[in-house]
Amino acid sequence: MRMSQNTSTSQALLDHARSVTPGGVNSPVRAFRAVGGTPRFIREAKGPWLTDVDGNRYVDLICSWGPMILGHADPRVMDAVQQAASRGFSFGTPSENEVALATEIVSRVEPVEQVRLVSSGTEATMSAIRLARGATQRSKIVKFAGCYHGHVDALLAFAGSGLATFALPDSAGVPASSAGETIVLPYNDVDALDAAFAEHGDEVAAVITEASPGNMGVVPPVPGFTKALRDITTKHGALLISDEVMTGFRCSAAGWFGHEGQQGETAPDLFTFGKVMGGGFPAAAFGGRRDLMELLAPDGPVYQAGTLAGNPIATAAGLATLQACTPEVYAHLDRVAHTIADAASSELMKAGVPHQVQWASSMFSIFFTDEAVTNYDGAKKQDIHAFARFFDAMLAQGVHLPPSSFEAWFVSASHDDEAVAHIVEALPTAARAAASTDSAATL
Ligand SMILES: *Cc1c(COP(=O)(O)O)cnc(C)c1O
Repeated sequence: MRMSQNTSTSQALLDHARSVTPGGVNSPVRAFRAVGGTPRFIREAKGPWLTDVDGNRYVDLICSWGPMILGHADPRVMDAVQQAASRGFSFGTPSENEVALATEIVSRVEPVEQVRLVSSGTEATMSAIRLARGATQRSKIVKFAGCYHGHVDALLAFAGSGLATFALPDSAGVPASSAGETIVLPYNDVDALDAAFAEHGDEVAAVITEASPGNMGVVPPVPGFTKALRDITTKHGALLISDEVMTGFRCSAAGWFGHEGQQGETAPDLFTFGKVMGGGFPAAAFGGRRDLMELLAPDGPVYQAGTLAGNPIATAAGLATLQACTPEVYAHLDRVAHTIADAASSELMKAGVPHQVQWASSMFSIFFTDEAVTNYDGAKKQDIHAFARFFDAMLAQGVHLPPSSFEAWFVSASHDDEAVAHIVEALPTAARAAASTDSAATL
């Protein structure tokens, strides 16, 4: 079923965008290829609501893929941004806001003694890997299938089957020499990890993992997995890099690390952050133990730099956002996420649609499959067509889900009763659409 929703201006913009930008978008998921239909060009956003260029309104469950944890155009962040902007946009010198943001991060995440600010999560993971290689004088990196760490050459690698498969490039343009230094393993599989380290242990510079994966849908570590990562890397002299670009400052004030709560036992060597810490502006970071971070230029031999790194406006937005993330905010995110997920699950159940709701604190996603998902192979078994029908029906009723079944759903502090009620009202129709195999294919 499709409600009447005029999308002609979005469609016209997309048609024009295609002539000047590949696929008409600046990040592939925005093109709606996984769900079909016209991507909505958003004109403005306030709180939990998006308004598109045709005037349609949507409750937002993307939240810019995580950063908008307070909701859109939060007045406190707006104020910080306007004040910072009134003093100039970028200096190319040290400035105060970047120290304040670094201090805030260091004070929240106990094992992080120093951070270096960068402009994107991709830069953060790329730099953390260079630092790990510099520190260990080794070259191999272990990553897990289904974990996304930005579009870094060495990390754009998927899993072959079996143990310790040397990755093939996942993207054209990634040299085999780069991907060949990457070992891709199935997530949540300690045996595969042991086998890879038995063979290559003394060549591995670092294991990089999403602290709790959210880029294959939400697939949290099984109990003991994070600890196993710490133990095996320590045993073989490799570093552990916890990618908290998505989970950092979202899963708790101290990210997934704070949420999983095994501090001393599982403290990684390096962390990467992004998304929430920029408050919607380009700011990201990598950080960790002082003795490692001191290997960076200008103190040490590992080079890393950025023209706009620590940008005064981005850091002002990030700092205002983190300061507003109180315990009440995290409690609200939990409550709202559970209300939405419970309602979705109950409607899908009524409609007879097999599904799994999976959680990482307030981050969740719904897999259209009847088995719990613990790794990428499991995630790939979901019924992506059922998701596409569900997505389409939600969008038509004014709820903007992430346009892919391999993504987390994000809520914000601004998701109030009205926004939640709007989502809940849309669910029965969407659940029936997911169930109906004879509805027109949207793909
Ligand atoms: C989003 C994301 C990145 C990449 O960040 P960008 O700012 O898009 O470059 C890296 N790692 C994880 C876990 C992410 O979710």
